[in-house]
This record gives sequence, C-alpha cells and structure tokens, in this order.
Amino acid sequence: QAAFRRDLARLLELIGTGKESLSFMKKRIRHLAQQWLRAARRLEQKLAGRQRDQKHILIHIGFLTEESGDVFSPRVLKGGPLGEMVQWADILAALFMLGHSLKVTVSLKELQSHLGVPPGRGNCPLTSPLPFDLIYTDYHGLQQMKQHMGLSFKKYRCRVRVIDTFGTEPAYNHEEYATLRGYRTNWGYWNLQPTQFMTMFPHTPDNSFMGFVSEELNQTERQLIKANKVSSMAVVYGKEASIWKGKEKFLTILNKYMEIHGTVYYETQRPPEVPAFVKNHGLLPQHEFQQLLRKAKLFIGFGFPYEGPAPLEAIANGCVFLQARFNPPHSSLNHEFFRGKPTSREVSSQHPYAEDFIGKPHVWTVDYNNSEEFEAAIKTIMRTQVDPYLPYEYTCEGMLERIHAYIQHQDFCTPPSLPPSPKTKSPAMQSSPSPLALSPNSTHLVWSPSAGWAPQAWPPVASLQVWVSEPQHTCTETCRRRGLVCEPTFFRFLNKEEVFLQLGIACDSTESEMNHLYPAVAENVRECYLQKEPLLFSCAGYNPKYRRLCPCRDFRQGQVALCRDCL
Ligand code: UDP
Repeated sequence: QAAFRRDLARLLELIGTGKESLSFMKKRIRHLAQQWLRAARRLEQKLAGRQRDQKHILIHIGFLTEESGDVFSPRVLKGGPLGEMVQWADILAALFMLGHSLKVTVSLKELQSHLGVPPGRGNCPLTSPLPFDLIYTDYHGLQQMKQHMGLSFKKYRCRVRVIDTFGTEPAYNHEEYATLRGYRTNWGYWNLQPTQFMTMFPHTPDNSFMGFVSEELNQTERQLIKANKVSSMAVVYGKEASIWKGKEKFLTILNKYMEIHGTVYYETQRPPEVPAFVKNHGLLPQHEFQQLLRKAKLFIGFGFPYEGPAPLEAIANGCVFLQARFNPPHSSLNHEFFRGKPTSREVSSQHPYAEDFIGKPHVWTVDYNNSEEFEAAIKTIMRTQVDPYLPYEYTCEGMLERIHAYIQHQDFCTPPSLPPSPKTKSPAMQSSPSPLALSPNSTHLVWSPSAGWAPQAWPPVASLQVWVSEPQHTCTETCRRRGLVCEPTFFRFLNKEEVFLQLGIACDSTESEMNHLYPAVAENVRECYLQKEPLLFSCAGYNPKYRRLCPCRDFRQGQVALCRDCL
C-alpha cells in the first residue's frame, strides 16, 4: 500500500549531487515543497482511502548522463534550456509524494547496477528479474537500457515510460511502417505503445500528457499582485541572447509604450543583441524570475523557445502573454528545430497550448508581420485587467491526480481485453458483433448497454463516442470540435466492418491494411479500410482522400488527460 508522503527531505537525498542541473532541480523541489504537501493532502482526501499499491520505480534521466554528452548541466547557469529539468524535478516530486519507492540515476554505471547488469557485461539478458515495476526515462535512457539489457529489454519494455517533450506520433513509432513510408526520425523507432510516451503539454492524445507544475497563488498573493502590477512593464521571453537577434523592430515599437525587461544571460558585458533601452537583469534564479513576472503586465515571446514552461508561469503570475502566430505553421517538414523529431504536428504559434487551451484575455496570438496588429495588441493589453490564471492540470494537485491515475490504470504488459469471439482473426480486426449503438440523434455511435459485455478498459468505455471526420481533419481535431478529446485506446472497439454500416457508410469493399489513418473510408470510391496493426492507431494525421472513424471521449474541465469517470 502506498502512503502519501508528509515531507520531501528524503527525496532530496535520493537525487544526489555534483551537477548544476541536479542543484537546480533540488532548489525547485525545496521551493515548491509546501505546495506539494498541500496538494497531496487534498488528493488523499479525494481518494478517500482507496487502495493504491506501492510501486518500485526507477527514474533514469538519460540526458543528464555523461555517456549521452550531458550538454545541459554546464548551461544551467548560462541561459541554456531549463524546461526539461523543471519537468523532471516535478515528476520526481509527484512520484515521491504519491508514496512510491524510488531510485534515481543519472549515470550509466548506476543504471547498470540498479538493473542488475554485471559490471563489464553489456548487451546480455539480465540474470535476475527486473526489480522495478516502472521505469521513467527519456530517449537517451531508452537507448542505454536497450544496449545494456540485451534480450531482457524486449521483455520489460512494457514497464517503461518515456518522457518525451515534443511527443512521438504512432506513424514514427512503428519501425516497419515508418521505414516503408519515410517517417524519418533521429530518435529511433521503438515500437512502444504510443501512450508510453509522455509529453510536456497535451500535444497529441496519442501520447500521455505528463506536464509539470507552476506555482499557485493564494488569495492574499493574488490581491497583492493585482495591487502592484505595473501596466507599462514588459518582460521578454528568452534567456539566451540569440533569441533577441533581429527583433529590434518589435522592441522599438514595444519601447514606445512600455519599459522592457529581460533576463538574458551575460558574462561581463551587455549582449549586443539586447538594445540599450532594455533593462537586462541577467539570468535570474527561478524564484526571482517569478517575482519579476509578478510586477510585469506583459510577457512577450518572439517565436523561440517553443512550448516552454515560462509562459504558464507568466500567466499564473497575472501577466498577459503576447506571442507570434506562425503562418504557415512550423513543423518537422519546414523547420530546422523540429526536423528529425518523431512528429508531423503543425505548431501554429510559439506556444500552442497557451493559444488553444488558455487564449484571451490571458494569451494574445497575433501576426507579427503586421506592425499595426502588433502595436494595437500592446495598447489594448495595457488597458486590460487580467487575473492570475493557472489551468488545474498544471497545479500540483492536478499533476498528482493525473500521475496517480496513470500508475493505477495504465498497463502495457497485459494484452487489452476484446469482445469474446470464437473466430478471432487478429486482435485488431475482430469479427465479433459491434458493441456500439447509434446515438439518439443519429450523429455518432456510443457504447451500447445491451452489448452484454463490459471490457476491462481504461478510460471506461462509457465515455466513448465515435464520430466520422471531415476529409481535411485529424481525429484530434474531429473530437476537439465536439468538445471532446480523441482517445486512442478506444480505436480497437471501432475497427470493425460492422461499424461502417452502423454509421450509414456504404462500403463496396473492405480491406485491412497498415495505415495510421485507418479505420477510414474513401467516399468517392466507396472503399472502407480497417487497421491491421494496433500500434498504428493514431489520433494524429489526415489525408483529403479519407474520412476517418474517430474515437472521442469526454474530459474533466482543466484536466484533459482524464475522462469524467477516470479517477
Ligand atoms: N527561468 C529562470 N530564470 C530566468 C528565466 C527563466 O529560472 O531568468 C526559468 C523559468 O522559471 C522556467 C524555466 O526557466 O521554469 C524554463 O523556461 P523556458 O520556458 O524558457 O523553457 P526552456 O527553453 O528553458 O526549456
């Protein structure tokens, strides 16, 4: 039985020393300790004594190992990326608070010793059973584990969770398909269940949304912030000087109205990219950066870095976030930064989560090529009153709740349950009757109570709705337009010939093939297609040739990862 923890001191000991990145993470954990404790107490009450098993968990942070180059640690104090460390610190804190038993490693040697790989021997099967129920790692760590576990890697990979900032879409994950179809990636083709990849933002429902936290304010702090806001103070997003390059035009316009502050790293002199009229504080410790945001009215992004934590912190501290719209969107097809990343996701602005999940009045996404639109936005923002805002999923309680649900319910080691059927062809294309029924207004299908069969599924099937996409839409978009979210684990219930019929789709022929857009119909030729390979079930992806069958579900307000009955 896992018992919620009452303090974080033991975790700080587990994390070890000797790297700037580890110091940064420990400082963050220490600073947020009270918030974690309060959140854990609230979740404990909510769960009301429900049985939770204590898991043995290995956390192997691959990108911080010397063996993978550890380019991050030396840059912690020099304006390098901190987002990943923010997230790992929060994952550690959450797993620990939930009461699990943790081992933390940031070197290959420690990894080998925890896995039970005898020294000097790599690439051999483990001699004793793996002593962990779960392993949280990243792509670097995954590679190291594969190298050093030999055949045991395949056996145990269902216990792995990969922390993967930008996400991995199914088409890139499936080795054979990706190779055949040219879905190239620098990160390997792992044939994992796509929900074993856990992202920083809810990018694609094909992966699990892990997230991180931002500091929450109490009533007194909120009032204090509102009273002390300086409506003419702006902070620029970007701690590395290169981010400021070529932005003089915008900075000059902004400077007409506001006092501009920056937190750009420098050694001795002001970086030449930062104009003299900017008040540069140098890279600040995280806590002081938050204090700066508390005073500022505007947090402004110039397009890079993509999708980091800072805009959420700014909004949580009562700033308005102004950012550039990308038209056309940036993606692995047209932008160096995303090239080789295992996703075709189209990034429509510097921070699509802020744009889509938060929006106005907190977030303004405008066309920076249009100076008038840019200037008008600044003027309006200065006059607008906004309250600090933090989506529930980015609070400590929200993160604890989500990780608790994943640990409790996600099981990649047992095959999923399917309707009973005497003549099973392949797990993906069952010939048993459809357990679905037409909704009362005939627009979509829902789970039929008369199916006489309730699968052991998580999320529970009662939340399922099947909708047919427009040709130009992904399933992610199709569900979103109905106030729902695509749920890839449900694809297996609608990958049946009969479901086309139930939806009133006429099929002259039905084929079963490997294609990440299937099940789908090519309406002009009345051809229907089923998915042959369950690993390719994908919420992402569209082709104007097809209308896709999409499994959607409801979600909790502010917690998109969980359906209403998912806890
Ligand atoms: N940050 C900081 N000092 C600063 C500016 C930012 O500690 O002067 C922190 C900030 O609180 C945030 C983290 O840097 O949590 C990462 O933010 P960012 O969005 O810039 O993402 P990155 O590109 O670093 O991954």
